[in-house]
Amino acid sequence: MNQRMYELGSKRSVIREIFEYGKKRAAEVGAENVFDFSLGNPSVKPPQIVEDTLIGLLKSEDATALHGYTSAQGDAGVRAAIAEYIRKAHGAAADADQIYMTCGAAASLTISLCALCEAGDEVITFAPFFTEYRVFTETAGAHLVALPSDPDTFQIDFAALEKAFTPRTRAVLVNSPNNPSGVVYSEETVKKLAAMLEKKSAELGKVIYLITDEPYRELVYGGVKVPYLPNYYKHTLVCYSYSKSLSLPGERIGYIFVSPLVAEAKRIYLAVCGAGRALGYVCAPSLFQKMIARCQGAVSDVSVYEKNRDLLADALRQYGFTCVRPDGAFYLFVKSPEPDANAFCERAKLRGLLLVPGDDFGCPGYVRIAYCVSTDMIRRSLPAFEALAKEYFA
Ligand code: PLP
Repeated sequence: MNQRMYELGSKRSVIREIFEYGKKRAAEVGAENVFDFSLGNPSVKPPQIVEDTLIGLLKSEDATALHGYTSAQGDAGVRAAIAEYIRKAHGAAADADQIYMTCGAAASLTISLCALCEAGDEVITFAPFFTEYRVFTETAGAHLVALPSDPDTFQIDFAALEKAFTPRTRAVLVNSPNNPSGVVYSEETVKKLAAMLEKKSAELGKVIYLITDEPYRELVYGGVKVPYLPNYYKHTLVCYSYSKSLSLPGERIGYIFVSPLVAEAKRIYLAVCGAGRALGYVCAPSLFQKMIARCQGAVSDVSVYEKNRDLLADALRQYGFTCVRPDGAFYLFVKSPEPDANAFCERAKLRGLLLVPGDDFGCPGYVRIAYCVSTDMIRRSLPAFEALAKEYFA
């Protein structure tokens, strides 16, 4: 067998490990005594238009065509609908022939990295980062260079970035709104990033690509704007997913958009098609492709997440914990009150609180709390958080 694949398969992610523990513990002590904040599974149901559209499609379309293969890169009509939405919503030039339909952001990222990278290339990202980035990058034969972010803001540390480029740098990978910090990159940050990528591309005499991982684009609170990166930097590939915006993580649907402004955009798109082919990611789920084409612009009710964020973040601060203000996604990234976040998580566990240590996100000393749970569970968990805080801050 392939040793790397064996290792990946035999070691579950820390998040999955905690989630499985939560299920076992709930059977032992009762579900009401376990406060599982481990998984980023949306707790808000999909908007009604999703159900209506699915039923409409099932009733009105010919079943053989509806469930049949589409083109490898996705149905042409679906890709045209997405391109039209990108033009209207973001004012970016977009065409059906620059969209590749995928099974969610995970596939979008793996395909994009495989399309862009040669063995030994480097991909720069910023900690904290989604735990699977290392796996996806290494699958592409490349090496993930994870830079620490400014710990006070979790915005990009440009001094560190400036020093990180090498002749092997192929791409920079960003995720805003961020999992796990909840931070949204400001327009100022995005402009500085674009300027640095231009400068470094010129200095190194090659194009450095920007890959933007955007499953949380619509999950922002208080009117915060998420800049659309192809409008700021030409050589951008957008990895989008409907997992969170439409609460459809199990249906596996998303896309890659290769901006037409990317150098050699047509050839890069063909490399994306080739990577999709090589990885077996052809013809994303047909029914859900057709559904999302009719639901462009629809979003789940994110006000529930905003309410959860306010309730939890305010309470935790009041108890003495510190965390950067999360403007988006559905995570709080809290500073561990003891240096070893794993030890802190073990103590939290004794009170039924299941939190994820930041180590696998490239940020030891922090814990992630996924607040995409019921508001009622958050309310019921607060006494446990308060008691836990007293162990450290009393
Ligand atoms: N990227 C980030 C930052 C995520 O948080 C996730 C899932 O939680 C993914 C990618 C994978 O998303 P998908 O379910 O669409 O594959």
